[in-house]
Amino acid sequence: MTKSSSSAVSIIEESDQEVSKAIQWLNELQDINDRTNKLPIVLQTQKDVLEYLEKHTVETFLFDCDGVLYRSPDSIAGARECILSLLDNNKSVYFITNNAASNRQQLRAKLTTILNLPNNLLTDDMMISSSYSCAQYLKQYFTNHETKPIIYVIGSQGLCDEIKSVTSFNVITTSESESYSMTREELADYIFPDEPIDAVVVGHDTSFHFRKLCIATVLLQNNPTALLVATNMDSYDLVGNDGRHLPGNGALVSAVQYATKRSIINVGKPSTTLFDLLQNQYPTIDPQRTMMIGDRLDTDIKFGTDNNMIAALVMTGVTTAATLQQIGIDGTNVDEPQPTIILSHIGLLNYNYNNNSS
Ligand SMILES: [Mg+2]
Repeated sequence: MTKSSSSAVSIIEESDQEVSKAIQWLNELQDINDRTNKLPIVLQTQKDVLEYLEKHTVETFLFDCDGVLYRSPDSIAGARECILSLLDNNKSVYFITNNAASNRQQLRAKLTTILNLPNNLLTDDMMISSSYSCAQYLKQYFTNHETKPIIYVIGSQGLCDEIKSVTSFNVITTSESESYSMTREELADYIFPDEPIDAVVVGHDTSFHFRKLCIATVLLQNNPTALLVATNMDSYDLVGNDGRHLPGNGALVSAVQYATKRSIINVGKPSTTLFDLLQNQYPTIDPQRTMMIGDRLDTDIKFGTDNNMIAALVMTGVTTAATLQQIGIDGTNVDEPQPTIILSHIGLLNYNYNNNSS
């Protein structure tokens, strides 16, 4: 969830207003564009979008979910028709989210319900949640491991289920019935498994606490070669009418990383690890003919631009025209790049051309 829940119509009105502001700013910079050709292209109508897709022969669409297709619990207007039209036209569609709370089946069920799509239209293969990419990464990394790897997970049940369904690894967690605190004496007396663990995985755990941090720290201390894997490194999400910062998974991983001084392997957007996994799983995806559609610059758009895809920003999520203006176009902000194209909302991406639509 990004902004407050409001009607589908007002979400579109808001996003249209943001696009108008972005256009105004981009127009002011037109002389720079003439010299550098660096500015994002704003596609204002369905016709503009279709012409762009045709010109660039886009065949594959990667969708971020929250802020693009829905703003929980409501779908964005036109999202359903967008997905239906892409599938009708034999385009490849994948849903790629940093949310590790769900496994693939749960994500498919959620999208089917929110977008009111026919049952069985979407398949598990289309779901690239960061819980899935995490499981795939672990599976590949430990392919030739002599014993069954042991993975300590700080995260949701959905993340644990996904790792177990993709691998046959031993997944261990800290019971929610244990105390949240841990004293020096408790840690000194705590009984750790005889066998060292092979990886600590951190997903977004809303029950993250000091005891889990202590246990993860000593587990990594006991095996210097064990991995520290993050489902994503998001700093925060926005909640509520006044855009309060909800700490993201990056904050939790950083606590473990700081206590252990380990390197972090990020398997979520915008990492190249995720892109490598994607290419490995779906070798037919051609980045040059792929559009990554998202609402965040530091994850979705960076994932697109870093991996030579067309990075499309929709204005129905966290990014505003003011954000675009703030980061500028000089290319020095590598963490928050400008998108390739901007469209107000996903309803403009629809192969069933409607003369009256805008
Ligand atoms: Mg999003």
